[in-house]
Amino acid sequence: MADKGKKKAIIIGAGVGGTATAARLAHAGFDVEVYEKNDFSGGRCSLIHHDGYRFDQGPSLLLLPPLFRKLYHDLGTKLEDHVDLVQCNPNYVIHYHDGEKVVLSSDRAQLGAEVEKWEGQGGAARLEGFLREAGIHGQLSYDQVLGKPFDSFLAMLRPGVVMNLMKLHPFGSLWGRCARYFKTERMRRAFSFGSMYLGSSPFDAPGTYTLLQWTETCEGIWYPKGGFHAVVQSLVNISETHGAKYHFSTPVAQVLHNSKGRATGVRLDDGTIKEADVVIVNADLVWAHNNLFAKDGGRTEMQKDEKEKKCSSISFYWALDSTIPSLNAHNIFLAEDYKGSFDDIFKRKGMPREPSFYVNVPSRVDPSAAPEGKDSIVVLVPVGHLHSISKQEEGLRTFANGSQVPDKETQDWDALVDRARKQVVEVMEGRLGISGLKDKIVWEGVNTPQTWKDKFNLTHGSILGITHDFFNVLSFRQQARHPSLKGAYFVGASAHPGTGVPIAIAGSRLCTQAILSDLSIPEPRTYTASSSSSYIRRNNSLDEIQPLSVLYTLENILWRSIPYIIGMIFTLVSLVVYTIIFGSSPTFVIERNMDRFSWKYLRSVFTTGDGEIDLVISIVLAVTAALCIALRLAPEGEPRWMTDAREAQRQAMLLEKQNQKNAEYRAQVKAQQDWISKYGPPPAQS
Ligand SMILES: Cc1cc2nc3c(=O)[nH]c(=O)nc-3n(C[C@H](O)[C@H](O)[C@H](O)COP(=O)(O)OP(=O)(O)OC[C@H]3O[C@@H](n4cnc5c(N)ncnc54)[C@H](O)[C@@H]3O)c2cc1C
Repeated sequence: MADKGKKKAIIIGAGVGGTATAARLAHAGFDVEVYEKNDFSGGRCSLIHHDGYRFDQGPSLLLLPPLFRKLYHDLGTKLEDHVDLVQCNPNYVIHYHDGEKVVLSSDRAQLGAEVEKWEGQGGAARLEGFLREAGIHGQLSYDQVLGKPFDSFLAMLRPGVVMNLMKLHPFGSLWGRCARYFKTERMRRAFSFGSMYLGSSPFDAPGTYTLLQWTETCEGIWYPKGGFHAVVQSLVNISETHGAKYHFSTPVAQVLHNSKGRATGVRLDDGTIKEADVVIVNADLVWAHNNLFAKDGGRTEMQKDEKEKKCSSISFYWALDSTIPSLNAHNIFLAEDYKGSFDDIFKRKGMPREPSFYVNVPSRVDPSAAPEGKDSIVVLVPVGHLHSISKQEEGLRTFANGSQVPDKETQDWDALVDRARKQVVEVMEGRLGISGLKDKIVWEGVNTPQTWKDKFNLTHGSILGITHDFFNVLSFRQQARHPSLKGAYFVGASAHPGTGVPIAIAGSRLCTQAILSDLSIPEPRTYTASSSSSYIRRNNSLDEIQPLSVLYTLENILWRSIPYIIGMIFTLVSLVVYTIIFGSSPTFVIERNMDRFSWKYLRSVFTTGDGEIDLVISIVLAVTAALCIALRLAPEGEPRWMTDAREAQRQAMLLEKQNQKNAEYRAQVKAQQDWISKYGPPPAQS
């Protein structure tokens, strides 16, 4: 029986987003029920087992570890107590078509030497410049994007966003940022292919996403022992200890609502109705919008357009009868026609004529992934997503190498799987200098776009959800709250802040905060305490933070103002030159028939000639300047008094609850005493 005082939450889907939200809500005191269509948890982040071999069905690279730490900290525990992480080093080995390979490492000295090897002198310095810029992208994303909702377009005008927008390079491409720092095509490719993790081409993904290369290099690539699913399993365990219940093989058919436009629960596939105060949808966002909501209850027909730039994969899960020592944990095989291979996926929605692909060998970092002396390997070949075949017979798609392919062949998955397998084996044998790879495969599992769609309800079989170009992020992306149905929420890859396991985890925090705020329930205390495990208590004078010298502060302000000052000087000089040449000012009334080089003349260029108007303009300019400076210097976090007020409110609520409990207890004791005084003490039990 559910506790009557508890709010009830139903979560549709036990993916990363669903299980993280379940753990958070159960920890916050909710009565949580999770319904999952499959008979296992994790969704895309699940495992495939075969005869002692273990494969990660989807994710294999654990990035942005601070977001994982924050989750466990919020839950009142520590990541290390639940998941055993191992760092992968090197990060990647990239194999090029010309037989050369590049090793990307988290060791800065090694990485610098590798870049200099290909780019010559100055390469390491340019790498540092690239990482510095990418680090700003990463830090700003942590501070301004991943932990904040973007409920309206006004949210994009927050000082923290506006003042830093240009530093995030959202309007240039990821490829463009790489081209800015690296001189060779080889290095540009090495530092840009990661955009595929967002389901985007590096030629379309905003420059902001160099943050991926930064986190890989500076925070490392990690792997949870026992497979990526170990993270999900720990979330299931934590939520269950707080009372959450999981129902597997139980698909949800519809989100129910009342006449006031509020979600009231769900109808399961078998017709059973389950009521709840809030419903959280973790199932694929587009699929959910089109299938889970009634026409008069929050349905928004979404993404019918197959032209959206998304991607899918043909994933092979191979059990080998021996190991391939020349493979590392993470291996990338890049196509010769790099751009063409992305265009074939995102523009022509097919499998590239010459695909780039990723090979993961979990047994290289975690021997438990395969029997001794053998390897389990996962090959991910990115391909276009499912689309309907052109009705016209002549529907042809022209691919990167100029070949024309009938539309229906781009969706003939049996043939494409055969071609992918053949090409992967040939390329791996050629570039690794091995033979007989096909004969080493003792078992094969395959996921095609159709499999992804059928297993997890992923629209068009898109493995990474909605893409991340500028008009699909921040306020343009679906936020945690359903746009029209109260009490319904979204969490997961296609909602804000975006795709990937750590990002979906960041989304679970935003979703939980939205629910708590809507129900006026205070956030658990763990949310406000510092989550930095390396925080040092400053009880030694050596560790005290010293205030910055005034001179340094002035230097900083001056340094940051230089571009604006240069801009202003340029504008003023242009204005004066224009006025001198044409004898009239484009902006203000000037006094004519005066010596053009006299001070009085110049002054009249910048003033209206009317003292009162000039005063008003000066005041407006001064206030604007003061505001700019204030915004620049304003603290990013909420003021201390606001945090204190929230905490005081929380304490008052706890006190009230405690008083209520005490009163109930006193009433109970009094009733017992009355009973005893009336009927005497109960007989002692033997
Ligand atoms: C091949 C591949 C490789 C990837 N590599 C990485 C990587 O290396 N690193 C990384 O961080 N990310 C990676 N990702 C992305 C990452 O896996 C996803 O972004 C993340 O797992 C999405 O989690 P989610 O909770 O949003 O969705 P899902 O995992 O899709 O979970 C949604 C759940 O809802 C269930 N569901 C759907 N409909 C219903 C219904 N009607 N009723 C009940 N349940 C329902 C589904 O079965 C599923 O379990 C990869 C993804 C893929 C596919």
